[in-house]
Formats: sequence, C-alpha cells, structure tokens
Amino acid sequence: MSNKPCPCGSERNYSDCCQPLHNGEQQPESVEALMRARYSAFVLADDDYLMDSWHPLTSPDDLDLSDNPDWVQLQVISSEQDSEQGRVHFRAFYRDGRKLECLEEHSEFRKVNGRWLYLRGDIQ
Ligand SMILES: [Zn+2]
Repeated sequence: MSNKPCPCGSERNYSDCCQPLHNGEQQPESVEALMRARYSAFVLADDDYLMDSWHPLTSPDDLDLSDNPDWVQLQVISSEQDSEQGRVHFRAFYRDGRKLECLEEHSEFRKVNGRWLYLRGDIQ
C-alpha cells in the first residue's frame, strides 16, 4: 500500500501523505489534511483512525463500516481555519451500483489540546 497513490487523491504516495497521519506518526497541520486523512480512512475502512480523529462530543459509540460505500474520489472545494476551528467544504464521490453518487458536506473541525478533530458535518 505504501507505494500506492494515496486514496485522498493528492497525487502523492500513501506513505508520504495520509499514512503517517493514520499511524499516528504525524498530526495533520491543517483541517484540509485531516479531511483528506479521514476520507482515506473511509476508503481503507480504518475505523480506529476515524474514531480517534472524531471530537468526543459528537463521535458515535461505535462505527459500523460494513455498509461503507465504494468511494471513488474526494474533491476539496474550500477550506478555512483559524487557531481554534476550521471548516472544509468538499464533495466525495462513490459508486452505488452503476451510478456515481456525490456526497457534499461542510465539515466543522475544532482544535482540542493542540490536535484537530472532526466535530460535525452539514450534508447538502
Ligand atoms: Zn492522502
């Protein structure tokens, strides 16, 4: 996997992109980097990373990825952040049978003890 292109679509290798975030070697420096790492974690069904990067106020008790769709592509439309909070507007494409579907969301992130965490998302 490590020499493969990263699932987040950055055109970098997984080992130079989301992998060090997934294995805890690095913390994302921006909310966009966290958004990308969380998308990659969905692609790879890495529920540990998803739970670990979820704000404790809003994280689910447990995460069932058994009906995780067949993710195809992430498109980050915009992102903004200050020192405490950030937002990412993105589209994530997935295959549903022979159709290509799109999830469009504004995600909110908060910094807790120096770490960015996913708080919530508004699906459009
Ligand atoms: Zn990546």
